[in-house]
Amino acid sequence: MVSPLIYRVDEDTLRKAAELLRTGELVAFPTETVYGLGGDAFNAEALAKIFDVKKRPRFDPLIVHIAETGTLDTLTDLSLLEKANREKAALLTGRFWPGPLTLVLPKRPEVPALVSSGLPTVALRFPSHPEAQKLIRYSTGAVAAPSANSFGHLSPTRAEHVEADLGGSIAMILDGGPCQVGVESTVLDLTGGLPCILRPGGLPREEIEALIGETAQTPRDGAPGAQASPGMLKSHYAPRTTLILHSGKEMAELPFRKNEAYLFFDRPSMERWLIETGFSAQNLQAGEGIFYLSEDGDAVEAAGRLFEILHHLDGLGKIRIHAEEAPPEGLGAAINDRLIRAAA
Ligand code: AMP
Ligand code: MG
Repeated sequence: MVSPLIYRVDEDTLRKAAELLRTGELVAFPTETVYGLGGDAFNAEALAKIFDVKKRPRFDPLIVHIAETGTLDTLTDLSLLEKANREKAALLTGRFWPGPLTLVLPKRPEVPALVSSGLPTVALRFPSHPEAQKLIRYSTGAVAAPSANSFGHLSPTRAEHVEADLGGSIAMILDGGPCQVGVESTVLDLTGGLPCILRPGGLPREEIEALIGETAQTPRDGAPGAQASPGMLKSHYAPRTTLILHSGKEMAELPFRKNEAYLFFDRPSMERWLIETGFSAQNLQAGEGIFYLSEDGDAVEAAGRLFEILHHLDGLGKIRIHAEEAPPEGLGAAINDRLIRAAA
């Protein structure tokens, strides 16, 4: 069945979506990380709708998406940053924008307080997805967009995921196919002294540090936004099915049960387990809940498939999902962060 809400992205549907955004409506759209639920960042009513549709607590600030570096000055006052961090902001935007990096910067007073839940800062991102960029440019140039899912649920990486979760309450879903990165952006706070990663995500810490030097991993006490990152709540990104996180060793020792699902980090570890468990072709069929994130241990591939596979496993009606930790380097940090919160 063709859904009346889902529109394939093309020039016409982008114009239509942009018109909706300009008139204060919400539109779900693809980005390279996950699907976003967009509303005009300067329209307080549209922002209020985002919180209502997602059932998101008002203390959780939104990321504003832009499609030209020039728009920065309408949203943030970089002169309020410490000099060293102003230079780092320039380096970071020069190298990693557009891309899966969100910067927390001083907010201009013209930006509605609802965007940042009353914080004096605003989180900004320049997505690399070409259609997302067009939508932003065709509408108002600044689109607030959290992930297009109910608060605490799994993030959507396909238009169908958005429809299943929010279908009843939004005007339009632009379908650009599956998201490439598959996990949310890395959120980096530049408003204190040492830049601080508030949320690991699609841009690995190692790449950020290679460019600007050391970063802090957890928010400093009392830092702006320290208490206010939804991605930092203990339970988030959660499937409905109970998820249990295991080390590689624990995972390898799990018995097979037909009514449980198994998510291995890579194919070799899944295959070793299948042999250990004495799997036959017959019970492989019974156990269609057995998956791996990456063919050969590539964390980029694994991150791209994470939410996709969790959505699938969640739909199988198993009583629990066992998931194996990723090696902690690179995007493995973002994968483990999501799995830990999914398990909480
Ligand atoms: P999402 O719902 O995936 O768009 O998540 C938005 C992320 O950006 C959350 O982790 C927010 O807490 C973080 N964020 C947005 N605005 C701010 C801000 N002003 N200060 C700190 N974190 C922010
Ligand atoms: Mg989210």
